Amino acid sequence: MQVRGRTSCRSPARPGAELSVADADFLVVGSGIAGLSFALEAARFGSVAVVTKDRVPEGSSHYAQGGIASVWSPDDSFAAHAADTEEAGAGLCDPETVALVVREGPERVRDMIALGTRFSLRPDAEDAYDVDLGLEGGHSRRRILHALDATGREMMRALLAAVAGHPSIRILEQHVAVDLLVGSKFGVPGPERCWGAYLLDRATGTVETFRARATLLATGGAGKVYLYTSNPDVASGDGVAIAYRAGVPIGNMEFIQFHPTCLYHPLAKSFLISETVRGEGGILRRPDGSTFMSTYDPRAELAPRDIVARAIDHEMKLHGFDNVFLDVSHHDATFLEERFPTILARCRSYGIDPTREPIPVVPAAHYTCGGVVTDRDGRTPLDGLYAAGEVAMTGLHGANRLASNSLLEGLVFGRRAALHAVGFVGERRTDELPELPPWNPGRARDTDESVLISQNWDEIRRFMWNYVGIVRSDHRLQRARVRIDLVLAEIERDYWDFLPTSDLLELRNIATVADLIIASASLRRESRGLHFNLDCPARDDARWKHDTILVRDSVTHRPRPA
Ligand SMILES: Cc1cc2nc3c(=O)[nH]c(=O)nc-3n(C[C@H](O)[C@H](O)[C@H](O)COP(=O)(O)OP(=O)(O)OC[C@H]3O[C@@H](n4cnc5c(N)ncnc54)[C@H](O)[C@@H]3O)c2cc1C
Repeated sequence: MQVRGRTSCRSPARPGAELSVADADFLVVGSGIAGLSFALEAARFGSVAVVTKDRVPEGSSHYAQGGIASVWSPDDSFAAHAADTEEAGAGLCDPETVALVVREGPERVRDMIALGTRFSLRPDAEDAYDVDLGLEGGHSRRRILHALDATGREMMRALLAAVAGHPSIRILEQHVAVDLLVGSKFGVPGPERCWGAYLLDRATGTVETFRARATLLATGGAGKVYLYTSNPDVASGDGVAIAYRAGVPIGNMEFIQFHPTCLYHPLAKSFLISETVRGEGGILRRPDGSTFMSTYDPRAELAPRDIVARAIDHEMKLHGFDNVFLDVSHHDATFLEERFPTILARCRSYGIDPTREPIPVVPAAHYTCGGVVTDRDGRTPLDGLYAAGEVAMTGLHGANRLASNSLLEGLVFGRRAALHAVGFVGERRTDELPELPPWNPGRARDTDESVLISQNWDEIRRFMWNYVGIVRSDHRLQRARVRIDLVLAEIERDYWDFLPTSDLLELRNIATVADLIIASASLRRESRGLHFNLDCPARDDARWKHDTILVRDSVTHRPRPA
């Protein structure tokens, strides 16, 4: 087992008990902002294992550019931040959750500064708290704390520095959570409960039974379900699929946010051109140089991101463009160098100089608003299982996420889930970890045909992009349904024939998530927030002002309304 940190540790939850290398009080699946926030809090009370399927910083948190929203200036208020969040959420935000997040925001941001995060400061700043506040689309006030255009990287740096060397935290890289250890599946007596997870060790190819008293899913989003995405490769919706297979309700999966502007270049897999570029005067152009945004919305380039993404999608489909362009070349080069150093460096590495020429861009799947349904303590209905960050559906985002609210959500719910989990574990401190069987590979053998996996991967990502993307229709959704049924049947067969690899596990998960998105989008007979269906283009509050909650049917194993 590839373990960084201590290989075993004493469990404060059960004084005197020595936990084995494959046990912990708290198992955290995912090493982004939500997972690490949980880990730091929980580690004050017990042993924590953080498992992550790649190297530690890899995940959306590391790539977050624009910043984190929080009420910070005297001109701002909790009411204003809540109102902006609810306006974006198009009637589906949970007002109590929104109020809680905006209220706790400044405190969590102060924690991050105390931990060593260096946000960009005002020119005359007196200390690390005197920060420069940015403005983003949908926010009525300046409230975006940022670290130039690489905010996530800086926040992750501070979190990782705090986690590294923490005596109660171990990090297991290159370990993929496969499925949860749910008590009833193994005949564990007592109330139903999650006891950890099966983990695939990518180095050895073996699946380990990792037991824990509380488990957090912090696996991030599901952008890889789509052909074009701003998300890193790890964002294959694993946590949603894992929770769904364990019978946990999944909500609002039809609300996928598409970022209007991802760099379009054959070698740039998923590089985002931040919205602040449009905020700072960037102009969208067709390949012939003409502008188009003002024909779609009077706010032109400053319209909300879903309107801009739909406009670009329409232009591309109407004229057959491969991409459009985002132009900032009219700006002073020194200003661009200072404000967008990361974006400029990345564009230049592909031979594009934004100070002199427009940047080729396409919209791309960016943020998964729905996910594992939790309460305001990150708790799922399965005892011992928590979810936080992008994998969760907390009620904060509703039908559309307000820019820069997601890093905030990860901080707030990572900590809240830890506080609850600490209480949960503490109350049950006398419970023995149950004996659980090792992974049963059955008749599985090594796969010698990776083309089977890559074919299904490509197929899902392409039909999801074309049929269940920015603009949907009944006909497109029906086509997607036929295709996902075929692919799911093939995967179900291959999954049991082949020994698990991370590619196979991810394929099974993106297929499950695609199934959930198609089912959710087909159920919602209106257009709202990020879900736009040409056959029912109007919002219908009378019939559809509610969340779409799905569970796995125990007989058909397919999604059905909860
Ligand atoms: C390019 C980009 C820019 C963004 N900019 C902003 C911004 O400016 N402001 C903002 O608020 N939000 C932004 N977002 C969104 C925000 O970054 C994410 O929503 C947030 O960071 C998610 O944090 P997380 O902890 O939930 O997940 P992540 O940071 O994505 O971490 C997920 C972790 O789970 C691990 N994992 C996944 N599956 C498994 C498995 N099966 N087993 C083990 N480990 C697993 C991954 O390896 C990773 O460590 C941006 C997103 C992207 C992609």
